[in-house]
Amino acid sequence: MTTPALEGRELSRVFGSGDTAVHACTDVSLEVHAGELLVVRGPSGSGKTTLLNLLGGLDSPTSGTVVVHGEDLGAMSEAQSLALRREHLSYVFQSFGLVPVLSAAENVEVPLRIARLDPAERDRRVSDALELVGLGQHAAQRPFELSGGQQQRVGIARALVSSPTVLIADEPTGQLDSQTAASVMDLLHELVHARGLAAVVSTHDPLLVARADRVLELHDGRATLHAREGRHAAQHSPA
Ligand code: ADP
Ligand code: MG
Repeated sequence: MTTPALEGRELSRVFGSGDTAVHACTDVSLEVHAGELLVVRGPSGSGKTTLLNLLGGLDSPTSGTVVVHGEDLGAMSEAQSLALRREHLSYVFQSFGLVPVLSAAENVEVPLRIARLDPAERDRRVSDALELVGLGQHAAQRPFELSGGQQQRVGIARALVSSPTVLIADEPTGQLDSQTAASVMDLLHELVHARGLAAVVSTHDPLLVARADRVLELHDGRATLHAREGRHAAQHSPA
């Protein structure tokens, strides 16, 4: 049994206290392995964003713990946790999160500038990432010159350019029409299996669940896990 890329162990998050306390996430446990796409599905307010923020280390659990490649984020210093998350985790945002004045290529390059890579290596990685999401021909265009689906592809390329092992995407298709949403989910599914990524993707759209290897259903912050085709099924069956 291999070590999961990402685990949540009995994660709970309570906002506020006393009579007004909101139990946004209650005792949720999950694991995601390399090459696996876990979809977190639930209606608005069911705790998807809360859970994904905990998993990504953007928020701290009230109780429970997050483990990245066997390392417990709760048991290390903030600096160590940040370093581990920077090395392994990438995020895709519902609202794309692109910088309007930058071209597609420049947007994808942002995480590499932070990582201080040399320019030639940066250019190579940026064009590889854009090719990977099918936007090789659109490198020079600004976000407003691209469709919503293309903008989200830029967001995905930016997430991949730092070669993460775990991708966390909170309703990445929430602002897209259903056909475009399906094609973006297809792309995520393809990338997860082609590159051996572990991905956690939330959605409230039942149609997108078809692309999942496994589904975690959230209701009022509580989870039910459904094995769609059994663990690691994706390695045996074509997409
Ligand atoms: P989803 O992403 O599925 O729509 P959320 O995780 O955003 O659900 O929210 C789950 C519940 O937690 C909701 O009742 C929401 O109002 C509450 N909640 C989320 N964030 C906060 C916060 N920072 N403070 C108080 N309540 C919050
Ligand atoms: Mg949300």
